Amino acid sequence: MAEMMENTEGRSAFDTHHAPSNEIIEKCVHCGFCLPVCPTYVLWGQEMDSPRGRIYLMKLASDGAAEMNEKWVSHIDSCLGCMACMTACPSGVDYGKLIEATRAQIERNTERSRGEKLHRRFMFETFTQPDRLRQMRLPLLVYQKSGLQAVVRGLGLLKLLPKKMQTMEALLPKLGPREAIAEVTPAVGTKRRRVGLVLGCVQREFLSQVNAATARVLAAEGCEVVAPGEQPCCGALLVHAGEEAAAVALAKRTIDAFERANVETVVTNAAGCGSNVKEYGHLLRDEPEYAERARAFAAKCKDVTEVLAEMEPRAKRSGLKLRVAFHDSCHLQHAQGVRSQPRSLLSKIPWLELVEIPEAAICCGSAGIFNLVQPDAANALGDRKAGLIEPLKADVVATGNPGCILQMQAALARRGQKTPVLHTIQLLDASIRGESIEFLKR
Ligand code: SF4
Ligand code: SF4
Repeated sequence: MAEMMENTEGRSAFDTHHAPSNEIIEKCVHCGFCLPVCPTYVLWGQEMDSPRGRIYLMKLASDGAAEMNEKWVSHIDSCLGCMACMTACPSGVDYGKLIEATRAQIERNTERSRGEKLHRRFMFETFTQPDRLRQMRLPLLVYQKSGLQAVVRGLGLLKLLPKKMQTMEALLPKLGPREAIAEVTPAVGTKRRRVGLVLGCVQREFLSQVNAATARVLAAEGCEVVAPGEQPCCGALLVHAGEEAAAVALAKRTIDAFERANVETVVTNAAGCGSNVKEYGHLLRDEPEYAERARAFAAKCKDVTEVLAEMEPRAKRSGLKLRVAFHDSCHLQHAQGVRSQPRSLLSKIPWLELVEIPEAAICCGSAGIFNLVQPDAANALGDRKAGLIEPLKADVVATGNPGCILQMQAALARRGQKTPVLHTIQLLDASIRGESIEFLKR
């Protein structure tokens, strides 16, 4: 710790713009109940890589007893932002607000290496821009469909690339035709609600089948689904990475787009996006033109499984004879508190057998851009999760977040497992459409 405590002259290391709240920091009573669910503590057993340790580091910096030097930053960087500690905490410490504020302080007040800066810039300028992701589809499709990917993988050529690029390649989903979503999908039968659909960024371009299934299921249940074409990225990746100013700009554009759509409910199907838009009231609290509108917008946001669980099912479900292992995405279970709804929806599909994955509270290692910036830790967590899934002998793994889908697919593939990982809504869609389980092979 000594190296963290030099040269601070008793002044807070944080600037005054949204500094991590001392009130929240003081709520931590150091009980340690959060330690067993913290993925980095589980991996490394180090106090400073636990929630309690990180809160202590924030306190030191706030009190002027530590600088935000490289070592200090590394412990904050290694946090997945999975929020498992918040679910476990008996004192109600709002760790989510602390880590987001701390990360924004790091990005404003510390200097990253040139390589890190370039890598982060590439990720933010690519993954938050659906247009750029769309441009990448064709070369990536050619890479996969021409057989080049199989050759490159088979010959082990990927090992010649830097680790972070290897990880990106391993996470690439099997690309098929992009399923476009109509700006308005009419309700089947009498309209029960008019809902807006958040399309996401990576999901919009690389897992478009999930958005298409979401629109179909909502429509089948009587929702008119509006997917505003001009909606930007919601900014989730930026918030979680401390890029506050850029995230605020995207949040404003998202609110504008959905206000114009005039919907009663805003539906998310990517847990990371859902947890972000539900916090717009906090993100835009100082924006005079948007603060109130952001609170109203956030109050309308719901995960698709919350929306469906609220409505008496109308569409007939056909049987799916599948053993399904359900994986709780952290941003659904911990950040949004949504656990029972996806299970309830899945268990109402005739013949479907739902099985639980042990250690459900612990992250699979996806966590926004975590698997791209900390590939070793992310792979270790992915391998741990895949090792818990394998003995379940499931036909399919279901979850509610695109990042988890890609992460677990890659982790299962490393074990030679071909178990498909699908979004919960894809199973509901298949059941409502009466598809045979052959759809899993596509
Ligand atoms: S958010 Fe997740 S990784 Fe970060 S301290 Fe909490 S439990 Fe650990
Ligand atoms: S469980 Fe809560 S109060 Fe206890 S150490 Fe963790 S954050 Fe602090």
